Amino acid sequence: MLCPFCEGFDTGVKDSRCLKYSVKRRRWCGKCNKKFTTLERVVSECVYVIKSSGIKEPFNRSILRDSVLNVFKDGSVSQPYIDRIIDSFVDFVSLFSWQEISTQQIVSGMLKILVSHDVLASIRFAALYKSFDNVSDFLSFVQSLAAGHADNL
Ligand SMILES: [Zn+2]
Repeated sequence: MLCPFCEGFDTGVKDSRCLKYSVKRRRWCGKCNKKFTTLERVVSECVYVIKSSGIKEPFNRSILRDSVLNVFKDGSVSQPYIDRIIDSFVDFVSLFSWQEISTQQIVSGMLKILVSHDVLASIRFAALYKSFDNVSDFLSFVQSLAAGHADNL
């Protein structure tokens, strides 16, 4: 990996420490001689989904993939395109080092990503997977999606 100080390629591992679910590595840069620490952890395989019933299940990429595929018009997007969307979501989760994620968090995270790809697909996704108390809540949500307001997803 690149040195975070000088972006040099010549970095090496000096020491590794195994923690319960991660590995801490002390690294050094052969170019600027600075030291830095990295934390390595398993991401998507170890993320648990907390369903609204309270049941905990391992995150299943293919379930999410199928639900995303559902909201695009048949044949309008390629399989690699869907995979890139799912990759963005997995990156989003690993960014926060989540080990548990609720279905509501999945829905709002997916909406944030989907709305930047296809607004209509994001509206279909919200209609299928987000719970609304009433029609006017749904309509105002659709209006904010259509207006590109992704902050309150
Ligand atoms: Zn360096």
